[in-house]
Amino acid sequence: MSMNGKICPACRIELRPLKNGVDLIEMSTNGPEALWSADLWHCTECGMEVILGIPDKPYARNGDADWFDQLATYQPFAMPVFLNTLERVEWERDK
Ligand SMILES: [Zn+2]
Repeated sequence: MSMNGKICPACRIELRPLKNGVDLIEMSTNGPEALWSADLWHCTECGMEVILGIPDKPYARNGDADWFDQLATYQPFAMPVFLNTLERVEWERDK
């Protein structure tokens, strides 16, 4: 038996990959900060989903020379993500 190291604690079975290459926009209260690409996994029994495989470095970061071009290309398809609930709530209120 070889485990992939990703287990649903509720169902006690391995998670399975659902989608590779999920695009994320790291948001702060100042707006978009970085673009990331990761993977979406899920539990086939209870449906729990989790984003894993976030790399060490972002695909692009605010301040890069081509940041606004990258952001414009990425943003329509990407999922905004936040460091905590407060930042997400403030973003939802201000948008
Ligand atoms: Zn489960």
